[in-house]
Amino acid sequence: MIADVVAKTKIRLAAFRFSAEYTPSQFATKAEMTRLSSICIYCGSSSGRTELYGATALAMAEALVSRNLRLIYGGAGIGIMGTVADQVLKLGGQAIGVIPKALAHKEVAHPNLTELHVTQSMHERKMLMAEMADGFIALPGGIGTLEELFEIWTWAQLGFHNKPCGLLNVAGYYDGLISFLDHVAAEQFVKPHHRAMLMVETDPQLLLGRYASYQPPAVKHWVDKDET
Ligand code: AMP
Repeated sequence: MIADVVAKTKIRLAAFRFSAEYTPSQFATKAEMTRLSSICIYCGSSSGRTELYGATALAMAEALVSRNLRLIYGGAGIGIMGTVADQVLKLGGQAIGVIPKALAHKEVAHPNLTELHVTQSMHERKMLMAEMADGFIALPGGIGTLEELFEIWTWAQLGFHNKPCGLLNVAGYYDGLISFLDHVAAEQFVKPHHRAMLMVETDPQLLLGRYASYQPPAVKHWVDKDET
């Protein structure tokens, strides 16, 4: 399977190593210097119950290509992950996949991507996606999508990066989650400015428009000395 993909794709075996090379300041510096050129999309490896989710993936792809933004995603050829990549490529855009070696078969690594990075682990995959992207958007998806969204939002909260994070709430898919997150903030487990970091829109162009003018809040250290 990997051999087939190698033959057709500009494939890179990621040399990135997770822990030793990473510091929060590397992230922050890159974000300050980089204009919006690549967006990471987290979304389902399934297609979901209704065709509305696939239609959302198509609209997201069109919005990315219309703004000359590269797609960074998990590299799968299945579910709405595959749909968004197929549409970006069909419209002449660039789709960059990042997939762990162990999942390349299970998630049916997309055979025609602009680039496919094969990592040794899930940690490396997520870190490489986070490094390459200038912003992050969750479309409808399952546990993997939620985990990726919460991790990258957590990193924003901690000030590890200054890149915009948000979700596309189509067909009310994330209504329950949004209500819960507002409850979490109301109960003072998340500060209002950290809650506000997660942008929510129903239209991809509107969300990307907000990303283009995004000003990260001046995030103070998670715990000040006088709070310990
Ligand atoms: P899902 O939303 O569950 O369909 O998964 C979407 C993508 O998230 C897939 O490519 C998964 O491999 C990926 N993913 C990222 N982190 C995880 C995790 N901790 N557990 C499961 N899937 C994950």
